[in-house]
Amino acid sequence: MKVDMNKTRRACVIGSGFGGLALAIRLQSAGIETVIVEARDKPGGRAYAWEKDGYTFDAGPTVITDPACLQELWSLTGRDMAADVELMPVMPFYRLNWPDGTNFDYSNDEERLASEIGKLDPRDIAGYAKFLDYSAAVFEEGYRKLGHVPFLDFRSMLKAAPALMRHQAWRSVYSMVSSFVENEKLREALSFHTLLVGGNPMTTSAIYALNHKLEKDGGVWFAKGGTHALVRAMVTHFERMGGTIRLGDPVVEIETLGDNATGVRTASGWRDSFDAVACNGDIVHSYRDLLKESAAARRRAEALQRKSFSPSLFVVHFGVEGVYEDIPHHMILFGPRYKELLADIYDHGLVAGDFSLYLHHPTISDPSLAPPGHSTFYALAPVPHMGKAPIDWDEVGPIYRDRILAEVERRVAPGLRDRIRTCFHYTPVDFQTDLNAHLGSAFSLEPTLTQSAWFRTHNRDDKIANLYFVGAGTHPGAGIPGVVGSAKATAGLMLDDLGR
Ligand SMILES: Cc1cc2nc3c(=O)[nH]c(=O)nc-3n(C[C@H](O)[C@H](O)[C@H](O)COP(=O)(O)OP(=O)(O)OC[C@H]3O[C@@H](n4cnc5c(N)ncnc54)[C@H](O)[C@@H]3O)c2cc1C
Repeated sequence: MKVDMNKTRRACVIGSGFGGLALAIRLQSAGIETVIVEARDKPGGRAYAWEKDGYTFDAGPTVITDPACLQELWSLTGRDMAADVELMPVMPFYRLNWPDGTNFDYSNDEERLASEIGKLDPRDIAGYAKFLDYSAAVFEEGYRKLGHVPFLDFRSMLKAAPALMRHQAWRSVYSMVSSFVENEKLREALSFHTLLVGGNPMTTSAIYALNHKLEKDGGVWFAKGGTHALVRAMVTHFERMGGTIRLGDPVVEIETLGDNATGVRTASGWRDSFDAVACNGDIVHSYRDLLKESAAARRRAEALQRKSFSPSLFVVHFGVEGVYEDIPHHMILFGPRYKELLADIYDHGLVAGDFSLYLHHPTISDPSLAPPGHSTFYALAPVPHMGKAPIDWDEVGPIYRDRILAEVERRVAPGLRDRIRTCFHYTPVDFQTDLNAHLGSAFSLEPTLTQSAWFRTHNRDDKIANLYFVGAGTHPGAGIPGVVGSAKATAGLMLDDLGR
């Protein structure tokens, strides 16, 4: 593309998830006049938030890892993120709990972690050290070197192939973990992380074991005021640089002329012209619904719909009278089954009678998220996406909610249900309705080896040269560090193309 360096370049980012916001900040800080257009009334995408009856509920991400990737967005203009939002360390990172009452506190404190492993099986302490070496090696390769590099052609994939072979990327995280440690509970503790980005530990590439090193080095953090406070800080930072955000107005069309995107049109009738357009919304929605005039986009949408999508989630939010000093910030309540439950969710499309839960208890870190003397929680269970299981969530939702609350009460919070003062739940249908998420998937494309890197949606469209993608459906994938890395990859391409 031939570029007039003196002309102001304008870009539109459709969607204000973490990926969209990070991309918009990078573009605006480089002097590109950037407009974010967001369908919902608040920014953040999956990181939406609700205020109900005095309680603050984050809708999505709660575990913040690699804070440096966020700080970098402020450093672009010499600012300090801490002036806009405070990140607080969380310790332990997680408490893992099994039905037999075993607790395992997981953190990067080596002595404490060794003692926790020793309680499960002292013979696994040496195996854990070897697993950590493996995790460090894949972290270096998969995250530090390749986590923010766009895979636009197959050659880039071939270049990565020797490293993938060396690290046995064809094996699953669970299989790799099992080659280092024997204890079944420890195998679950070291492999469940892939679920946080939509991957089945039994099939997700062992490369994703990098998360262990990511957390070990960077820690686990929580934003004071909740994750949405971090979203708001990103918006403040973006607007202070002169960026514009337009909320509550879904884009209905990306206008094209030949193989060029020329502008966007929204539901309210607003339209504007841009030199470049980037989609942060769902990839199937973007290709199928926003680019109706492009035959290539329609073909792409069809191809995407044949791919495998991550499961959805069922999330129960509840505000409770009382303070729970014994419940740490993040808990995983494993169910009686691990492999079999994962097969029910990923393969059989079953909402099983048992579940593994993630329990979020933010008021233990930040009591301001509930009225004095009260607590805020959410409990989350992975469930099949809507393409796997035709479930009537209006009917099943209240039953499933009650079972989850009963399990939380039985396992960690006696008397809980009598003390609940507000409660609501979020189902796969809500993911589809609120976020245009294909099949209600919570994490977009499943992170399998054959859907990673070049096999994922490219950060720049192959046909429409000034159309870009950012977020969970692109490389490297879901999770805050993933989508912030994708923003770096996409921004690099856009700034090159726009002559910055
Ligand atoms: C319940 C839950 C818990 C999670 N926990 C964690 C965690 O603890 N740690 C972690 O790192 N990750 C976590 N994740 C994953 C992480 O939240 C996501 O991968 C990440 O936030 C996705 O960001 P994104 O940039 O892809 O955009 P999204 O968050 O998907 O946002 C896309 C935006 O595009 C907008 N949009 C869509 N269509 C249009 C349109 N036509 N016009 C305008 N706007 C449109 C949507 O409204 C939305 O705001 C969690 C996810 C969920 C659902």
